[in-house]
Amino acid sequence: MSVAEPHQYRICPVAPAAHLFEVSVTISQPEPAGQLIAIATWVPGSYRIRDLARHVVGISANTDEEEVSLTKRDKSTWQADVCESPLTVTLQIHAYDRSVRGAHLDTTHGFFDGAAVFPAVVGQENVECHVEICRPSTSVGNSWRVATAMQSLDAGSYDFGTYIAKDYAELIDHPVEMGDILLGEFEVNGIPHVIAFNGHSSFDMARICHDLTALCESQMGFLGKPDDLDRYLFLVAVKEDGYGGLEHRWSSALMCSRRDLPRRGESKVSNDYRKFLGLCSHEYFHLWNVKRMKPECFDPYDLTAETHTGLLWVFEGITSYYDDLFLARSGLVSADSFLELLGQTITRVQRTPGRLRQDIQASSFDAWTKLYQADSNSPNAMISYYAKGALVGLALDMTIRKESDGQFSLDDVMLGCWRRHADTGMPERGLESIARSVTGLELEDFFDRFVRGTLDLPLPGLLKTVGVDMRMRPANDRKDLGGKEIKGDIKPPLWLGATLVANGGSSRFKIVLNGGPAERAGIAPGDEPVAIDGLRLNAANVDSRLRDYHAGDTVTVTVFRDHQLMRCRVTLTTPPDDTCFLVIDDECDAAAAKQRDDWLGQP
Ligand SMILES: [Zn+2]
Repeated sequence: MSVAEPHQYRICPVAPAAHLFEVSVTISQPEPAGQLIAIATWVPGSYRIRDLARHVVGISANTDEEEVSLTKRDKSTWQADVCESPLTVTLQIHAYDRSVRGAHLDTTHGFFDGAAVFPAVVGQENVECHVEICRPSTSVGNSWRVATAMQSLDAGSYDFGTYIAKDYAELIDHPVEMGDILLGEFEVNGIPHVIAFNGHSSFDMARICHDLTALCESQMGFLGKPDDLDRYLFLVAVKEDGYGGLEHRWSSALMCSRRDLPRRGESKVSNDYRKFLGLCSHEYFHLWNVKRMKPECFDPYDLTAETHTGLLWVFEGITSYYDDLFLARSGLVSADSFLELLGQTITRVQRTPGRLRQDIQASSFDAWTKLYQADSNSPNAMISYYAKGALVGLALDMTIRKESDGQFSLDDVMLGCWRRHADTGMPERGLESIARSVTGLELEDFFDRFVRGTLDLPLPGLLKTVGVDMRMRPANDRKDLGGKEIKGDIKPPLWLGATLVANGGSSRFKIVLNGGPAERAGIAPGDEPVAIDGLRLNAANVDSRLRDYHAGDTVTVTVFRDHQLMRCRVTLTTPPDDTCFLVIDDECDAAAAKQRDDWLGQP
């Protein structure tokens, strides 16, 4: 059997000001009955149908300069007429999605996730792909460089030219940035790593490279170097206000805010920089947990329809548990700083009554229509498999440490999973069975209660295993994320059971919790607050207004709904203890202190 000629892809930023990429693919041996080509309906790692073909604004096909007609078969698929010679399909793609999972092109830069721009040659997805990445023909791109983890065929370092991927899956797993790029290079266990920034240049690159070296080395020491990891790229788009990331096998696409990056001369880890490091840590951990070890049903990805798994809590939740833990284990943040982050995660879950309605297996399964399409009722109806999944990871870790007297931990389970599933998909109960076989513990009850059930995690008792006290208090104001003790005698605001957000020049009720005072009084999401007992009420002053009352007071809250003024009588209640902070117990016994050191990786 002859080896198929590679598919020749080409992507050109033909009109940056009009946000237009032209993409073509030449197929040397098109399917004799009429070649199908398809654009993905979703992007791996982002579990929502996005119908990326809606950005195709023009498409044509030809062979030997003869036009070949195309028939649209469904929302994302075209079929070319029968032709024998090489077939070239050319698409114009509007690229104005400024996220890490789309394509964006303007006069300042271009970025694309391969799934958003490259059509699949249906039935020939295993054929090698070459892609020529072209410089813009307009003068705006004169100084542009290219950052991607794709292997170069003939392109110079960080330059336009032709790149190569072993198949379509790999082609779309290499996001590409073109523009004025600032590069930082470092090595992790001898493997070249690069961080490429676009959008900001005034920050301490040397410090970032130094810190990421420590972070990546620490993670690499945990599960070990994957056989095919010979390079890694952090691709960062810096915006005034932005946050997000998408994992890939040899890279990650990140978005952060300018304030997240450390200024030259600063040495302390600000909360914003800690957030940036946490994002890098999260996406880097995915290099093992979801890009190589993945749910069985993602192997391979079917990008034509939703792919359901109850395991996203393992791949996102446990990743979220380890992302912050590795900030501490690598020495980038103190134990107290890590415990502050953990306290904030516990607070987020505790403030979400939907945790008692939806378990994390169901949250994973329904990601497509629930977590990724969250609305004002989401906190009442669902729980995030990220936040609750991280806490289940914590609880499982503590349970194993406790039951095995420190002999085993979640680390051993993850290592067992990695050894078993680095190259083969994980079945739906894969982690559970490996946890049992690695530790010898009977953990079915744990999974029944906390993964397939909605019981609250017994964290206070479990955290004692590692000499940490978990304490709860009321929220101090609407910006209080938890994680910290509030010192002094400060009266917390009374409880409305609803959140107010600023909305341009006005405010509106965003979330109204089931059974809370606001819902009982008839306030609904979207209502615009006007006054409380005749005094103006908005997002900025709600906390101070609510400090003026006592539990049991009934107040009149006026709101506009659809331009109609409504009077709601609200009986305020004592705020719930829904805000967590964690404290190291210096008096704990030596065994607990040893468990804590093992957990945090402290010498
Ligand atoms: Zn993730």
